[in-house]
Parts: sequence; C-alpha cells; structure tokens
Amino acid sequence: MRPFTYSRAGSVEEAAKTAAGTQGARFIAGGTNLLDLMKLQIETPTHLIDVNHLGLDRIEPTAEGGLRIGAMVRNTDLAADATVRRDYAVLSRALLAGASGQLRNKATTGGNLLQRTRCPYFYDTRMPCNRRKPGSGCGALKGMSRSLAILGTSEACIAQHPSDMAVALRLLDAGVDTVSADGSRRTIPIADFHRLPGDTPEVENALRPGELITSVTLPKPLGGTHIYRKVRDRASYAFALVSVAAVFAKDGKARFAFGGIATKPWRSDAADASASSGAAAVAEAALNGARPTAHNAFKQQLTTRVLASIYRQKEA
Ligand SMILES: Cc1cc2nc3c(=O)[nH]c(=O)nc-3n(C[C@H](O)[C@H](O)[C@H](O)COP(=O)(O)OP(=O)(O)OC[C@H]3O[C@@H](n4cnc5c(N)ncnc54)[C@H](O)[C@@H]3O)c2cc1C
Ligand code: SF4
Repeated sequence: MRPFTYSRAGSVEEAAKTAAGTQGARFIAGGTNLLDLMKLQIETPTHLIDVNHLGLDRIEPTAEGGLRIGAMVRNTDLAADATVRRDYAVLSRALLAGASGQLRNKATTGGNLLQRTRCPYFYDTRMPCNRRKPGSGCGALKGMSRSLAILGTSEACIAQHPSDMAVALRLLDAGVDTVSADGSRRTIPIADFHRLPGDTPEVENALRPGELITSVTLPKPLGGTHIYRKVRDRASYAFALVSVAAVFAKDGKARFAFGGIATKPWRSDAADASASSGAAAVAEAALNGARPTAHNAFKQQLTTRVLASIYRQKEA
C-alpha cells in the first residue's frame, strides 16, 4: 500500500470541497472495496476523506411517501429495516444475497453503488485493462470471460457490474442524491448514474470531481410480490453470474432488473411489456442485443431459467 494522509470531514459540503480541491483525494466509507484496491495498488489515493461521521446514517420517510436512505447506512441495517422489509422487500432480499454478514456490517449504501467491477483482469496488474489503465487494452476479450457481461458491452470493456443492491435500486427507480464542491445539490436518476463502458470504461458513473453521495431516495412503494433471485458459483460469499429482481403486480403487470449479465444494472422496457406473456418472452426481450463470448454464452439460458423459476415462485 502506498502512503496516504487521512482526515475526517466536518460537514458534507466540507467533504466535497476538500475532495475537489485535493489532488488524488478519495472518500472512504466502509473501506471494504477501496482498501482492497489500495493494497493491490490498483487505487493509489494520496489522501482519504472519512465520511463516516456526517450524520448520513439515517433511514427516513420523504414528503412524497417514499424513503430516504443515508449514504452511510450499512447494508445490514438497510436490509433489516422494518419499512424496507415491508415496502421494498426486493431491496432487502438483494442486500442479503450480497457478500457476507461481516462485510454487510461495514459496507455502506454509497460505497456499494460505487464498488468496482470484479473482472479478474481488472484485479491482475500484470494484465492489460482499459478500465484500470486507459488505452492499455482488454485482457478479458481474449481471455477467460465466464463471469463477464453480455449486455451493454463495448470493444473496450465487457466487465460486469457487481452490485446486488444496485439492481434492486434500479428496479425501484431510486434517485442518487449528491452534494458538489460548490455546495449545490442534485438527484441523479439511478438509470443515469452508472455509465456504459463505451470508449471510456474508466468513467464509471455520473459523479463530478469531489461530488459526494449523501443519500438514495426511493419513490412510493410499488406493492405487489417482490422477488430477488441470484445464481452464483457458491451458496454465499460470491458475486452473481445472473441475478434478477422482479416485482409482480396483482393485475399481471411486472417489472424486472438484471445483474451479473450487464455492464450496469440492467432494465428493459420491452421485457417489462412482455410480463403477461411469461418467462420465455421476458427473457427474449431482455436479452435482445446480447453479445456473449464463447465462455459466457451460458448466461443467456441461465437468465431464461432464472425467470422461469421466478414465475413459478410467484405462483407458489
Ligand atoms: C469478498 C467480498 C465479497 C463481496 N460480495 C458481494 C456481493 O455478492 N454482492 C455485492 O453487491 N457486493 C459484494 N461485495 C462488495 C461490497 O458490497 C462492497 O465492497 C461494499 O458495498 C462497498 O461499500 P463500502 O462502504 O465498504 O465502500 P468503500 O470501499 O469505502 O468505497 C467504495 C468506493 O466508493 C466511494 N465512496 C464511498 N462512499 C461514498 C459517498 N458517500 N460518495 C461518494 N463516493 C463514495 C469510495 O471513494 C470508493 O471509491 C463483496 C466484497 C467482498 C470484499
Ligand atoms: S473487461 Fe473491462 S475491466 Fe475487464 S480487463 Fe477488459 S477492460 Fe479491464
């Protein structure tokens, strides 16, 4: 690990201002992703700004009938929250499908949204990786791409988005609330928050330099039946090969979001519109435009099977 300095911010505005004005500064929340990357020297911040003591650890109702989740709310606390379990059960289930108990005790809402890909070549500094070192090439394209994405990929990068929580937030149409260095605040719709890799896979989200996530806002509850199904290589402590979040309404309408198969949490209007035609139709619509490699083509059939299993579960 390279040497770095450390400070605790006194307010969200101060945190954003310090981050924007300090070359090489990064926020640290739970540290469960950032510290691992620092040990491998994939991330080499010169200064860490601790944002754990800014009062961003509350879950509270919004005036619009939704829920505001502070950026520092731990994944364990969010999954266990009574309102989340009752009104946004898909989010609670997605969180509990992620990582391990100890990690969820440290991991935060903001940090989870910003965790970096688990592409094995991104973690191997001997290999080329456009996301880690722009312009160096992509080791995965001609390497082992079993875990990587089939949707939203580009010639530069096919890395899968790793977060389970973000898939549920995408399903729920969450907004990401931020504060910038000049004190201005905005809400970024989650659909626009994560970026497709295109020619610049190193630019992973819509945040500006120094911009701090303060909270995530959920709209009013959707009602219906909430399901999160994750398929992975081990029963726990593993990232998704395929995951599907679904909410079924009583009138037969449904919405779906997908993880493990795409470069960002994935939704498809066509998939939602096919809900009443059954799992195969939803899968066909959702996978439209998929560009699998020889190693990860199995994800197409796996997605279809996961959807079929979800349809059976909702009838049970
Ligand atoms: C072994 C292992 C297994 C895992 N399995 C899963 C899994 O199955 N599913 C899953 O979803 N996740 C999994 N994770 C990932 C884990 O969920 C993330 O590491 C965690 O959510 C990151 O949150 P954090 O608070 O620790 O972030 P940190 O590591 O502190 O920060 C991550 C990034 O976010 C930035 N950041 C943090 N907070 C803010 C903020 N408020 N505003 C702006 N920037 C911010 C930091 O600067 C950093 O760049 C796993 C992790 C490990 C180590
Ligand atoms: S898929 Fe993306 S993250 Fe993985 S090696 Fe290629 S450029 Fe890097």
